[in-house]
Amino acid sequence: MLKEKIKQLASEYAGEFIAVRHHLHAHPELSYKEFETSHFIREKLGEWKIEFTTLATTGIVGIIKGKNPETKIIALRADMDALPITEENEIAYKSQNPGIMHACGHDVHTTCLLGAAKILQTLKDDWQGTVKLIFQPGEERNPGGASIMIKEGILENPKPQSIFALHVHPGMEVGKLSFRSGMVMASADEIFITIKGKGGHAASPHLTTDTILIASHLIVLLQQLISRNNDPFNPSVLSITSIHGGNTTNVIPSEVKLMGTFRAMNEEWRFKAHDLIKKISIETVSAMGGEIDILIDVGYPFVLNDEKLTETAMRKTKEFSGAENVSETELRMGAEDFAFYSHLIPACFYRLGVGNKAAGITANVHTPKFNVDEKAIEIGMGVMAWLGASIDN
Ligand code: ZN
Ligand code: ZN
Repeated sequence: MLKEKIKQLASEYAGEFIAVRHHLHAHPELSYKEFETSHFIREKLGEWKIEFTTLATTGIVGIIKGKNPETKIIALRADMDALPITEENEIAYKSQNPGIMHACGHDVHTTCLLGAAKILQTLKDDWQGTVKLIFQPGEERNPGGASIMIKEGILENPKPQSIFALHVHPGMEVGKLSFRSGMVMASADEIFITIKGKGGHAASPHLTTDTILIASHLIVLLQQLISRNNDPFNPSVLSITSIHGGNTTNVIPSEVKLMGTFRAMNEEWRFKAHDLIKKISIETVSAMGGEIDILIDVGYPFVLNDEKLTETAMRKTKEFSGAENVSETELRMGAEDFAFYSHLIPACFYRLGVGNKAAGITANVHTPKFNVDEKAIEIGMGVMAWLGASIDN
């Protein structure tokens, strides 16, 4: 049976792919600079005689044909980039690139997709259809590697019917996987505001435009804007995360800069909110006598999991990993550029448990002590191969 064969190979290959992950972990590269990583992946695909082409500079698309390759095309996606974080784990495969770390687990994602690729290639006479492997750059930075891959035609020739990706989740124990239909993660847009006015002596505010006071009002109004205009059942959050202005006690500065993030799970509300944020910012600053520059840098949309596909994937994963190990995942306001694919073709983004409380593996992603229980690699590559081979839509 196909399922048993995949499990058998995942178990047999586990050691080889843990070594692959150690290599990737030790050699992390920043977004859009994944040159060595890309080279490494191409070498592996070549070794296993999987045909591939490159796009988006460091991106790779591989094609594995099973029996009757035209019957269906399933895409499996991994991201390859690391973060500007200095690793604090004392491990044999610690990052060798100063100030760069695979702190979001994209080394594990790439490893699982490589492992799935080798399994699917080995078993290509045992399953139907075509699997398109997508190794993409730049998940962590705007505009998002996914959007560039899409512009360069990743979803054409051949066009996949559906796409899957996994993300490591240290909050979930190794062995577990979780899924969710509909909205899964939020859109993320960055806000940059500069408030300008005539600064001056703090003892004579009447001769100045108080940019600090304007900024204070604006921050409060922006919070009220979200809470008073958004449907309480529609997840959305705005956080002002940076405020810079002034450097002493007796001078009102002529400029204050604010930065923040706006997140949502509804495209209509998202762009309506952008207009409201701009309007209230411009009007408030102007009413208080200042001038304003405001920029909203539009990032990733929200991640939308196709209901039917997710239901099927969840059922298939239960067959593979046991129903007790598969659950429904909670909503998160984090962002993920897989979202771009998910608004174009049926998509399913699921989570792979990599935590192990007993072993002290609990650090969150994007922290210097993040790591995974590597038993997750066998499960991650097995499930991914199984979904690629067994989903038929
Ligand atoms: Zn991340
Ligand atoms: Zn990530």
